[in-house]
Amino acid sequence: MRDVIIIGSGPAGLTAAIYAGRANLRPLVISGLEQGGQVTLTNDLENFPGFPDGVSGFEMYQLFEKQAVRFGAEMLYDVVQSVDLTGEVKIVKTATETFEARVVIIATGSTPKRLGVPGEDKYIGKGVSYCATCDGFFFSGKQVVVVGGGNSALDEGLFLTRFAEKVTIIHRRDRLRADAILQERALKHEKMAFIWDTVVEEVMGGTAVTHLRLKNVKTGAVSNFPVNGVFVFIGHKPNTELFTGQVRLDETGYIETDHRTHTNVPGVLACGDVQDAIYRQAITAAASGCAAAIETEKYIAENEGRGYPSR
Ligand code: NAP
Repeated sequence: MRDVIIIGSGPAGLTAAIYAGRANLRPLVISGLEQGGQVTLTNDLENFPGFPDGVSGFEMYQLFEKQAVRFGAEMLYDVVQSVDLTGEVKIVKTATETFEARVVIIATGSTPKRLGVPGEDKYIGKGVSYCATCDGFFFSGKQVVVVGGGNSALDEGLFLTRFAEKVTIIHRRDRLRADAILQERALKHEKMAFIWDTVVEEVMGGTAVTHLRLKNVKTGAVSNFPVNGVFVFIGHKPNTELFTGQVRLDETGYIETDHRTHTNVPGVLACGDVQDAIYRQAITAAASGCAAAIETEKYIAENEGRGYPSR
């Protein structure tokens, strides 16, 4: 029986592992398929405090992991297939092993929805991005496109006007989904333009993106649009499939936590993007991972000697 199993190896999971390790809880971290999580998609992370010259997302992941292991975390590079979190003893299964723990910390993150068009995957980090805060700076004086019509698209599009010469929003309908206040700001912004009723059919370029093939969904007209950067904000999907029916999710699929990272199930905590639809930053994920580990320590101490499964 383990004290704590952490599912996920992004900044939230690994920060939880650092703190849980230092509390002598011997955490087991099950990494998931995408080791390091979404942060590893970022070429150059310039806004994480303590790295004045920036750091690559992958290097940051390696540093987090090294620090967690130094304090006794055990890494398992595997994928959780199923969980049973309802009992006092939590069960976590991979394809080949079954683990038991007093506490489970869910840090499975979220996945930016992709367009699913040719060229998109090829140009990630070479013009295609899912994070304006991370990558906007690299498009100073350049032409960028934002795909989407929700709050994220307009919020991030407005942020990108600080750098880009022009930000063109490409939306598949002729009405935005975003809140009225954001619409008003975006529609009157001198650096912003809109292309309506249009979808991206292909991302094209050489070593980096040079243009998009667009299709007007009403007329069927196809055109090429020259651009340096493509920011896709068509929503995020929290990685909660494993936990459906076990912990309470909100209407958009995110895990509901209280302000101390507890879910509605005793002994199950959640941190990082899997419970955060708003900030979605490495630093906020790390902070909630720290909170989840401290709460784990308290939970175990409080339940010791009260019929709680003995060590
Ligand atoms: P969202 O509200 O679901 O909007 C997604 C947008 O992408 C929609 O305009 C949608 O078009 C479009 N879209 C979806 N799939 C597409 C596809 N395959 N191709 C092209 N376009 C596609 O997602 P979000 O903007 O990320 O927001 C998520 C949540 O976070 C929302 O609750 C939002 O209010 C919140 N949020 C709030 C703020 C804020 O308050 N400042 C900032 C960011 C996010 P349709 O409109 O046609 O469906």
